[in-house]
Amino acid sequence: MHYDVIVVGLGAFGAATVYQLARRGVNVAGVDRFSPPHDQGSSHGDTRITRQAIGEGAAYVPLALNSHRIWRELEALSGAPLLEACGMLMLSDSRVATRGHGTADFAGETAALARSFGIEHDLLNAAEIAQRFPQFTGYSSHAVGYYEPGAGYVRPERAIEVQLKLAQQAGAALYPNTPVLSMEAYDGGVRVHTSAGTFTAGRVISCAGMWSAKLLGGPFPSLLKVCRQQLFWFELDEPERFAPDSPVYILLDGDADTDSCYGFPPLPGENAIKIATENYADSGDPDHIDRSINQADVDAMYEQHVAGRLAGVSRRLLRAKACTYTITPDFNFLIDEHPQLPGVTVVSACSGHGFKHSAAVGEALAMHYCRETGAADLSAFRLNKAAVSATR
Ligand SMILES: Cc1cc2nc3c(=O)[nH]c(=O)nc-3n(C[C@H](O)[C@H](O)[C@H](O)COP(=O)(O)OP(=O)(O)OC[C@H]3O[C@@H](n4cnc5c(N)ncnc54)[C@H](O)[C@@H]3O)c2cc1C
Repeated sequence: MHYDVIVVGLGAFGAATVYQLARRGVNVAGVDRFSPPHDQGSSHGDTRITRQAIGEGAAYVPLALNSHRIWRELEALSGAPLLEACGMLMLSDSRVATRGHGTADFAGETAALARSFGIEHDLLNAAEIAQRFPQFTGYSSHAVGYYEPGAGYVRPERAIEVQLKLAQQAGAALYPNTPVLSMEAYDGGVRVHTSAGTFTAGRVISCAGMWSAKLLGGPFPSLLKVCRQQLFWFELDEPERFAPDSPVYILLDGDADTDSCYGFPPLPGENAIKIATENYADSGDPDHIDRSINQADVDAMYEQHVAGRLAGVSRRLLRAKACTYTITPDFNFLIDEHPQLPGVTVVSACSGHGFKHSAAVGEALAMHYCRETGAADLSAFRLNKAAVSATR
């Protein structure tokens, strides 16, 4: 079977890409080793924070803004709520700059980009934080808050499901439970060898998430690191502390990656908050991720990040999940041609901050493929040729 485009991997980025191509009338197929949405990759766990002023860098801001627009379009088409703009509070300390996702002063950069892009926000001192957000406690009198009312959370599994359904309705052929075993370029296209036989395509867009290095070879195993993360849901003793408009939050702290944390208000009908830190120390093979959660990690999370910092949250763990980040050396995205496989576009080593940009990246890739003008600029995410040769 031949397609104009085959999208490999139908998680956050693949679902968005196959949808955007299909709605433009491209003869496209999507192939996934599981049946997305699923909980074996990087896009599960109910919620992902989305912001508009993106401290990771100016190149991401147009993507986040476009994703918000697309999610609202998808909500109108599907009737499924995807984006909850409950606001985002980022707390930091005015005396120190805290690193985040490769940015030396994450809070400072966020506020600077909000100013330069005209994104609505408030800067708060400790007294104002206490008055507006009493659920957060234990921070110093030097605390400063960045509050962005248009930020919030997006529902990852639902967003993937909606885009795949709409893609199929627009004519995309979807092959779930079909692992891609290898790919090879030939004159005029790419052969995609799967468990269900070989397909060909003029172009392949590979969105294989944490399996990217294994599937793509070349420089990618040296550039991509898969890091296990854990998500915890603690039951609320005092749900009234988290009013319906309670924001998502990022509490920036300390020098180590695990010193900062982020979390979400309770979802409608739930009596728990989800909270997590970031881990870049444990990296491993995507086929052997430890998905168990041990009590010592639960206790450490509660003691370090919940007790004394979030009012009205009990020690009772309702749920926990393991998930993975696939990170590049500088925490940036990597979206470019495969240097050794002509016809293959590599997407999605999205370094733990990709979901909020996924809808827009899918749109930009489809617009580039269809040679439409006005596509978001993805040039900041090109493979750094110097870094590639350094890995050889
Ligand atoms: C715990 C956690 C919290 C996060 N928090 C945030 C957040 O708050 N905000 C934010 O913006 N981002 C966040 N992220 C990052 C974001 O979720 C990821 O960047 C994004 O989901 C990655 O999407 P993906 O498409 O690259 O990978 P995935 O969604 O994992 O998709 C990859 C797909 O490829 C398929 N696949 C792989 N290999 C093959 C193969 N050989 N053949 C066929 N199919 C294959 C897989 O089955 C999978 O479906 C978080 C990530 C984690 C893990």
